[in-house]
Amino acid sequence: MSVRLFNTASRSIELFEPLDAEGRSVKMYTCGPTVYNFAHIGNFRAYIFEDLLQRHLEIRGYDVQRVMNLTDVDDKTIAGCKRCQVPLADFTQQFKDAFFSDLDTLRIKRAAHYPAATEPKYIERMIEMITELQSQDVAYQAEDGSVYFRIARFTKYGQLAHLNLDELRPSGRIQSDEYEKESVGDFALWKAWVPDDGDVFWESPWGRGRPGWHIECSAMATSLLGPQLDIHCGGVDNIFPHHEAEIAQSECITGKQFTKYWLHCAHLMVDGQKMSKSLGNFYSIRDLLERNYSGREIRYALLSVHYRLPLNFTLPGLDAARSALERLDAWGERLRLFASDTPPALGESPAKKRFLEALDEDLNISGALGHLFDWVRESNRALDAGSLTPAEAARVLADFTSLNSILEFEPEAASVPAEVLALVQQREAARSARDWALSDELRADIARLGWQLKDTKLGPQLTRG
Ligand code: AMP
Ligand code: ZN
Repeated sequence: MSVRLFNTASRSIELFEPLDAEGRSVKMYTCGPTVYNFAHIGNFRAYIFEDLLQRHLEIRGYDVQRVMNLTDVDDKTIAGCKRCQVPLADFTQQFKDAFFSDLDTLRIKRAAHYPAATEPKYIERMIEMITELQSQDVAYQAEDGSVYFRIARFTKYGQLAHLNLDELRPSGRIQSDEYEKESVGDFALWKAWVPDDGDVFWESPWGRGRPGWHIECSAMATSLLGPQLDIHCGGVDNIFPHHEAEIAQSECITGKQFTKYWLHCAHLMVDGQKMSKSLGNFYSIRDLLERNYSGREIRYALLSVHYRLPLNFTLPGLDAARSALERLDAWGERLRLFASDTPPALGESPAKKRFLEALDEDLNISGALGHLFDWVRESNRALDAGSLTPAEAARVLADFTSLNSILEFEPEAASVPAEVLALVQQREAARSARDWALSDELRADIARLGWQLKDTKLGPQLTRG
């Protein structure tokens, strides 16, 4: 097996080879939410794509160490705490809590670390890094007291986004509110305190102020993962200037290539339009749960479109996700009722192999789900025709369970208790032996446990009640 990924840096699909000499450990950094509000489904599209990437690399044997930052100081968080008249930390805490609860709702695997920008050790690291950049003359303090990165000093600046640096140095008058900068493209490393910031500031060699967003990520990524990352992800909006700035800052300090593979997901649109509060098409996870969609259904809808294609999110799309999951649930239940107890000794099924090979190819999820539903159709047909053995059904089930370590599509709760399943299997055996009396007795036992059993042409079907 070999995983291939589209690298934004080269604009091509490349064979994935981690930096680790043994080829096992993978360092992955993912830009996280700015905690000034509930994260929206566009943010979660990015986090679900990163979840798919991590889980696929793991099933392929890599040991993924993932970090996701929390941006808990910036203009929006400061404006929010001022509006609510609460300290910054209290204001952001509620959205951090909501974010973690939404991750669980969507079954997103937790990263190894969730550093927050305002943690003292990271603020200290940011100040150290800016001091180092200033000593290299790559950073300068402007008249307003803020410190900027001099992009003209970093020749690679613009390479990730494939921008020509000259385009960032327009001639003539520059209209910019940050008029103190030498060049319009220079970005802030440290923002000098202004009265609107209230009590949000840190002391620094440049006076009171706060870090810029880009240096936050460089400091947290390199503190936790070291000077070099295998993979860095985000949405396409992060490519420029955010990731470009991260490369510039980090590489000036470490002298090493910051990230080997850059992966970015396309944006999520709603009903074909940009998601915005004014259009009334702005959804948080909570909004969708209130409309009675489950986290699993939202996960399916966000996961099922290839990450580099724009995702057009609609409520009918969520209904389609519901139907697809119902189909998988019915299939899983049917297999469970028919499968033998003994672990299958038949090896991996070709369908599972096809599924994983599709994901190897730049996370081709549409191809992978296509294989999954072909498998559902074929095995249902084989069950109808009586040509699938209980051992084969057990293998299909085991393989589906293993794919669920990536998909996380299993029903909310184990739908049928093991005790009931055992009785159904005993009853199937009694029916095969034409022992109708025992079969009726077992059906009554099943009913006493709260389940109704019907014999259909698809096999025994259980319903609650
Ligand atoms: P933010 O909180 O705006 O910094 O965004 C957090 C993450 O969500 C970043 O990786 C963004 O690129 C991503 N993101 C924001 N909006 C969207 C969207 N509409 N579709 C996909 N990803 C998005
Ligand atoms: Zn970032």
